[in-house]
Amino acid sequence: MTPHSSPIVIIGGGHAGAQLCGALAEAGLGAQVHLVCEETPLPYHRPPLSKAYLKNPAETVQLHRAEAWYADAGITLHRGDAAVALDRAQHTVRLASGTVLPYAQLVLATGARARGLHGLPDGLANVAVLRNAADAERLRSQIGAAERITVLGGGFIGLEIAGTARALGKPVTVLESAPRLLGRSVSADIGDHVLQTHRAAGIDVRLGVAVGGFEVDAGRLQALHVDGERKTVDLQVLGIGAMPEETLARNAGLDCANGIVVDSLLRSSDPDILAIGDCCSFPLAGGDRHLRLESVQNANDQARTAAATLQGKEQPYAALPWFWSEQGALRLQMAGLMPAEGTRHRRPGATPASFSVLHYVGERLVCVESVNAPMDHLMSRKLLEAGKSPAPAAACDAATPLKSFV
Ligand code: FAD
Repeated sequence: MTPHSSPIVIIGGGHAGAQLCGALAEAGLGAQVHLVCEETPLPYHRPPLSKAYLKNPAETVQLHRAEAWYADAGITLHRGDAAVALDRAQHTVRLASGTVLPYAQLVLATGARARGLHGLPDGLANVAVLRNAADAERLRSQIGAAERITVLGGGFIGLEIAGTARALGKPVTVLESAPRLLGRSVSADIGDHVLQTHRAAGIDVRLGVAVGGFEVDAGRLQALHVDGERKTVDLQVLGIGAMPEETLARNAGLDCANGIVVDSLLRSSDPDILAIGDCCSFPLAGGDRHLRLESVQNANDQARTAAATLQGKEQPYAALPWFWSEQGALRLQMAGLMPAEGTRHRRPGATPASFSVLHYVGERLVCVESVNAPMDHLMSRKLLEAGKSPAPAAACDAATPLKSFV
């Protein structure tokens, strides 16, 4: 098969799928592309759903592109029609509507699904998750009507929802089983700062709690059993993480291990099928370790790598990971991956509520976490991309802008 013989089918119209459409259209391949979307809206941005969208009833979803753009690029959209089966031998995808699409090359950009609480029935009127626009619309009206909100899980999405609900004046409790917030993602310095900030804003954050059970009646979650005590529930938000959407890949016999396993060109165990974004487990540049990232940066940059692979160009994925989160008055930004071991150095910011934590392995700068310090974040990305490592003492001198080391 020639590298770009038609057609190219992309499954999933999220960040990665939308970005890949852009890259393929730029390469003049739009007319070969079919974008299969389980959701009915045109591809839209997810980050605002837990931020501006939740806060303001007048806010609408932010589209990546207008419908006319896809038409002009020659891209065929299949909206509100999920892919339900792959036939790798026939090179076809079957959609829920019964449509069968042939493909020369296929890209899985199926994202991730919100994790549910084990044993809790679906569809309870006062239980919410947040993954897509429909969830956000429902949650916005639930928050508006709620007297108090309990968020299970002190991860990014749970804390963003907690911060937004608190800013709307609602009493909010966050229940986290780990001894600190954001334990898997940020350093203890940042986790502690986030905890203090949320508590100062009036959020009741409880750490190290165990949810032992729950009571369901009349289609509602009535109570949670927390550390052996019965706590009645008004609105319950589940912010306990997401799982890669790999059902199609698994059913088609592709290798999956916490994500669809891909190589550095983002090819799955079937070279005619790629996987990108939240759904894939990719090798970290220069090593064998695989990881899965849930971030806009990763979805966008992997889409660009996939576009190159689809055109027969070998451009291994090696982008610098970066991430942001907005939680009430906090703007957290990370560049690079936090190392398991190393040294940490604090760089003060312009105000006590603004600082960065620089992580070194030996003398090498590998990661920078910034709180309300967007310029430090931008400059850190430049430093890390250029492989530059200013000495910690110099880099942590607040009077010297990080820009001077770039
Ligand atoms: P998604 O954007 O999730 O898109 C996957 C799409 O595939 C979905 O539309 C899904 O319906 C569709 N799909 C799945 N299965 C099928 C099928 N069988 N057939 C057809 N379609 C299918 N990241 C940041 O960096 N910063 C942030 O501040 C931030 N905030 C976030 C806030 C929220 C509320 C959420 C949910 C995520 C946030 N993220 C943030 C993460 C970021 O949005 C994701 O990493 C990014 O959307 C991943 O893109 P994706 O295309 O891989 O997956």
